[in-house]
Amino acid sequence: MISDLEFDKQHLWHPYTSMSDPLPVYQVKRAEGCLLHLNDGRQLIDGMSSWWAAIHGYNHPVLNQAVTDQLKKMAHVMFGGITHKPAIELGRRLIELSPEGLDCCFFADSGSVAVEVAMKMAIQAQAGMGRPGKTRFLTVRNGYHGDTFGAMSVCDPETGMHQHFSTMLANQYFAPAPQCAFAADYTSEDTSEIAVLLKLHSTEIAALIIEPIVQGAGGMRFYHPAYLRELRRLCDRHQVLLICDEIATGFGRSGKLFAVEHAGICPDIMCVGKALTGGYMTLAATLTSRAVAEATSDKELGPGVLMHGPTFMANPLACSVACASIDLLITNDWHSQVMRIEMALREGLAPAQNLEGVRDVRCLGAIGVIELDNTVNMAAIQQRFVERGIWVRPFGKLVYSMPPFIISDQQLTQLTTAMVASIAEEVP
Ligand code: PMP
Repeated sequence: MISDLEFDKQHLWHPYTSMSDPLPVYQVKRAEGCLLHLNDGRQLIDGMSSWWAAIHGYNHPVLNQAVTDQLKKMAHVMFGGITHKPAIELGRRLIELSPEGLDCCFFADSGSVAVEVAMKMAIQAQAGMGRPGKTRFLTVRNGYHGDTFGAMSVCDPETGMHQHFSTMLANQYFAPAPQCAFAADYTSEDTSEIAVLLKLHSTEIAALIIEPIVQGAGGMRFYHPAYLRELRRLCDRHQVLLICDEIATGFGRSGKLFAVEHAGICPDIMCVGKALTGGYMTLAATLTSRAVAEATSDKELGPGVLMHGPTFMANPLACSVACASIDLLITNDWHSQVMRIEMALREGLAPAQNLEGVRDVRCLGAIGVIELDNTVNMAAIQQRFVERGIWVRPFGKLVYSMPPFIISDQQLTQLTTAMVASIAEEVP
């Protein structure tokens, strides 16, 4: 019999990897708190929260209990024609915590699906408001919204996957990426191209979709809240809906519970996912206003229903653990945790600024980014991180960390020291 790792290599696809020349993988036996325990006995401090999700760390007794309690009642039941307490409780929490004005909630099974639902909702809502010609989307470069076809069509056209699927992708409008950094001065020039595109094409544009404040997988960039406020104003002026994709930023990561709060705006449609279940299970949600929900449900100008309904919609296990995760977030004083992490990341990553080959070091909330001049050798740098006892997975020119909120000060020091030391070796 071939070894487990050899089986994995020969038969299992990993995210964005080749089946013929896969990158090495590390086998995790168990995970606890902020530590990943490898099969070979090594333990790694987790700097990734399993891609923004595991905000409370791993194997958390409260989250475990929520899953086990629900498991004894039912793991799943269809949501068509049936409802249940976990979905209702989660809906209550999301509507209560999200910006005022978001009143209706659609549970989807992943972030990408939540974005697809948001896009369908926008098109149906525009039709329901008597504007059936509005079926396209406007977005900014350097964005990332997921890997399904609708979501891919609004990802950055160069760093995204447009070239590989061009014949299948809807043709959307792209404005330049926001240029004004989070803490810099905002100038109205930054949104001038968006204003022009809206003026010229608003009869075709259903919605503008954007990641609020933090552009994640498309470049790990933090932009100015005034930019988002201006987009809100422009969308209103042109009868274009504003979709904010909070899938990465939601639940405290950027220093606000939702990143839109930096700008004090409410989008028409908001997607959440990732940290929604504290990283326990796949679940996402698309929230919207009563007005958009009613327009989406218009019987005369549209089908009268939102055309989406996944098999595992509102999965009770996932909803239960999401409720427990949200409650934990609130009782844990997430804001102090995130501010403490921001300070430690700023201090710990600052020495990277002086390294050759480092273009920029930036932090916001519990997100720390080191941008290099050149693309990293993923396998080599990953090995160095693991040898130093940390788990960080870079992409392209970006080495970044968004640790679980429960990470200790000592673990943060070890994490940032090891990141800087590994980069110093990578770029001699
Ligand atoms: N939107 C954003 C901003 C994301 O960061 C991601 C995931 N990286 C997605 C959408 C897609 O989510 P999922 O991977 O759960 O489909």
